[in-house]
Amino acid sequence: MSENALKVLYRLHNSGYQAYLVGGCVRDALLGKEPKDFDVTTDATPEQIKGLFRNCRLIGRRFRLAHIVFGREIIEVATFRGHHDSSDEGESKISKQSDHGQLLRDNVFGTIEEDAQRRDFTINAMYYNIADHSISDFAGGMQAIKDKSITLIGDPETRYREDPVRMLRAVRFAAKLNMHISDESAEPIKRLAPLMANIPPARLFEEILKLLLSGQGLATYKLLQEFHLFEQLFPQLAPLLLQSGNRENQFVEQVLTNTDNRINTGQRVTPAFIFAAFMWYPLEERCQQLMVEGGLNHFDAFNLALNDVMHRQIQRIMIPKRFSGPIREIWQLQNRLPKRYGRRAYQMLEHPKFRAAYDFLLLRGEIEGGDLLELAQWWTTFQEASEGQRKKMLEALREKEGAPARRPRRHRKKPKPKA
Ligand code: ATP
Ligand code: MG
Repeated sequence: MSENALKVLYRLHNSGYQAYLVGGCVRDALLGKEPKDFDVTTDATPEQIKGLFRNCRLIGRRFRLAHIVFGREIIEVATFRGHHDSSDEGESKISKQSDHGQLLRDNVFGTIEEDAQRRDFTINAMYYNIADHSISDFAGGMQAIKDKSITLIGDPETRYREDPVRMLRAVRFAAKLNMHISDESAEPIKRLAPLMANIPPARLFEEILKLLLSGQGLATYKLLQEFHLFEQLFPQLAPLLLQSGNRENQFVEQVLTNTDNRINTGQRVTPAFIFAAFMWYPLEERCQQLMVEGGLNHFDAFNLALNDVMHRQIQRIMIPKRFSGPIREIWQLQNRLPKRYGRRAYQMLEHPKFRAAYDFLLLRGEIEGGDLLELAQWWTTFQEASEGQRKKMLEALREKEGAPARRPRRHRKKPKPKA
């Protein structure tokens, strides 16, 4: 158990407040898994929490809570949430609801029993009390763990409407914990999936990372498809995946399989690679369209398509600059990897994004075979080759494909002597 979480719990408790661990850490501990982070809940208000901790930041508008910061570890402390009373609604900072039942503000405080009712799934509503080390299970979470059942608390449709992200969370927990979504909780999802359009793209970015980087990305993806949620997140890619077993499907599944393997063996992964892959075929399609219908050359069409596809994607899922830059580079290098003459091959090896671009090419090659696979294999060999072998490879390439026509040297015009 995190020492920092303990410090927070004891500081609250010793100051006369109730203090509980709740959510994922209690659930995961009961499942014998190592908790990813520690969430604390209390009857202290955000301001009272701030008064107790120097290292405290209050965050969130929709859902106000406190972050207690210990270097790289953050302990989230939320005040018990209560029921929404229709008299609170309107333009209040405390509570606000949209026309489709979405809660735009959820800052009504209440008791622990009420708080339990406001949580999403029964397995997430178990509380560990620091005062007596007991666990309170208000919604039948213990039984749900035994039944391996992801079950929403309350009326599923109402709860999904309040916060459509709960649909993504249902899928995430089902895949990550190897459980199933109960029939009643599963039923409304396909129907309500379009409500995802009302979620701010920045929040969806955070959720997407959790969905795809859990180590169970492939299983998660399959559930997202099954529940018609994937098309809400990647509307450009989804139509290309309708025909099962085609190269687009194979590509996406292979990317996720590789990502899962890397995560589960402790290797680094970058979201840029996954996003680059999920937009690659839409990019190729758009590029073709611009060439055929717009009469553009490949270079112009590709650059235009790249901007188009990225622009459309970020309407749904915000992609921060630190990832969108590398995504563009991975794409652009796909056009440079075939051009290996002279010094280019060596310059390519030095490129900071060479590794990602090469991995990307390899994946494309594995799926499409043919010239692409040959090209990827050439790069595999070239990287491992000695200097002498590299020279030979480049010469062979020159003979096979014919050297590019030497550009006649342009003689610089001598500046006219000044009169
Ligand atoms: P993880 O292992 O991913 O951290 P978690 O269950 O702890 O899973 P968090 O996002 O950390 O998920 O949220 C902590 C707890 O807050 C949840 O267990 C749940 O009780 C509650 N919660 C989070 N998001 C929602 C939501 N959208 N609606 C209702 N309750 C939520
Ligand atoms: Mg958590």
